Amino acid sequence: MRAEFPEFRLGTELATSFTATLTERCGDAVERIPDPQRLADWLAIHDLAVDSCSAAQLELARELRESIHAAATAAALGEPLPAAAVEVINERSVRGQAAAVLTPDGRRRWRLGSASRVEDALRVIAADAISIIAGERDGRLALCASPTCRAAFFDTSQSRTRKWCDMNTCGNRQKKARYHANQRKKQSSASPTLG
Ligand SMILES: [Zn+2]
Repeated sequence: MRAEFPEFRLGTELATSFTATLTERCGDAVERIPDPQRLADWLAIHDLAVDSCSAAQLELARELRESIHAAATAAALGEPLPAAAVEVINERSVRGQAAAVLTPDGRRRWRLGSASRVEDALRVIAADAISIIAGERDGRLALCASPTCRAAFFDTSQSRTRKWCDMNTCGNRQKKARYHANQRKKQSSASPTLG
């Protein structure tokens, strides 16, 4: 992995891992697929290797990403899905070619269309988003509790009470902030009152 680019956040669900290629949307946003090659890297890690990636295809990918984010956010809040986002998700789903295949050891893989185009990979991501937003999968869409993040994530925990999109980043930061706030409270209550 090339060090000059921000690392990927690897989640368990394809669609929400993809939306996590832009993090801290409500703070100082971090773009984790800043160029076409970086998108190709991300796809390869997710078993969706493509032959090449152009700037125009990166734009198609980012548009899909933000549409999934918008639709998943609305679904998490129980609001109507934004029509423009639904349109983009559906367009990407229809445009690409990919087929589910079974590996000899019994796992599902996606075989992209013959040219292994970015559009084919986006089709797989769009279909994954559709299954999550449509409520077909066992889990709950929720929004990260971090005010600078607010990412939509898919909670598959047994209790369905996960608060953060990612325990190692948003969860940890929140815990640290709470710790420092508590320390401050303790210090102020321990200090002698004046007057
Ligand atoms: Zn978060």
